[in-house]
Amino acid sequence: MNILANLATVLRPSDTALLLCELFTQYAARSTQNENMVQYTMLGELICYCSKCKLDLNHRITLMDGTRPKRVMCLTCKATHSFKDPDKPKTTKKNTTKGTAKALTKAKVSAQEKDWRLKLTDTAKTPSKYNMKEAYSMEELVYHPTFGRGIVVTFDHPDKIHVFFDEGLKVLKGLKKTA
Ligand SMILES: [Zn+2]
Repeated sequence: MNILANLATVLRPSDTALLLCELFTQYAARSTQNENMVQYTMLGELICYCSKCKLDLNHRITLMDGTRPKRVMCLTCKATHSFKDPDKPKTTKKNTTKGTAKALTKAKVSAQEKDWRLKLTDTAKTPSKYNMKEAYSMEELVYHPTFGRGIVVTFDHPDKIHVFFDEGLKVLKGLKKTA
């Protein structure tokens, strides 16, 4: 006996829709648990290599292929390109050890977040418009067309900057201002 067909005879169409919705939610939750990997969502963000900027930068997912991102948009140069799986071993490993600012640890970020947020909302300062070719100084305020006001918090040698925005920390292209 077909259970679903049987149920349909006793349930109103709206109930059937709700039931199917519930079943789907349960299924989706289960498949999420099974995959011990990063969950990607449409319009979600990730850090991957931009062939135009030649750096690992924040990208927005613009197209999904099942559970994997298919196309992403670089939030620095706005170029869209196909997503290259970072889990796959890279053939060329760049030497970025010398002069590289130590990547901000999660603990360090959460410890400073409050302070950054405070500085972000300092209306006495006017942010400069973000430009990937510009050089920035530490704690300089910038304005990004997508993320709004941000504060430069780390320099990542040679031409990456970590900017804290209202929605979190982003890696963008940018230079360090020399004194
Ligand atoms: Zn780019």
